Amino acid sequence: MKAWLEFSPKKVNKAIISDLMRDYDISFNIHRADITPKGGKMLVEISGNQSKEGVEFLEREGIHVSPIKRVVKKDEEKCVDCGACVSLCPVKAISNTEDWTIEVDDQICIGCDFCTSSCPTRAIKVTK
Ligand code: SF4
Ligand code: SF4
Repeated sequence: MKAWLEFSPKKVNKAIISDLMRDYDISFNIHRADITPKGGKMLVEISGNQSKEGVEFLEREGIHVSPIKRVVKKDEEKCVDCGACVSLCPVKAISNTEDWTIEVDDQICIGCDFCTSSCPTRAIKVTK
């Protein structure tokens, strides 16, 4: 699952993520993190046999977990690689490749929908 984890100021300096990694059979990837002593957020991907138990552990430890259920898809037939969507993505899920085609990384996307309205051919869509 992909989710935002929200840390309150009291939780920022605790070793909750290390405990999670040590005690549960999960894979934990951090896509984005904005953490300060005042608290913060982390965009993560959690997978593996004990994902559910791992999320329950985080919630017990006081981390607010907001799952992201929306996914972005680009229709390769319709996309003309104009690049209009690239700079609008707040998490850099859309990028130019070396040959100037546009790629969308669904693993990074947070489903914000900013890109969809910019597309002249309606090639990019976010679905639930
Ligand atoms: S929906 Fe938002 S996060 Fe996902 S690719 Fe579009 S702009 Fe980026
Ligand atoms: S705005 Fe639409 S056509 Fe242009 S690169 Fe993005 S998905 Fe492709």
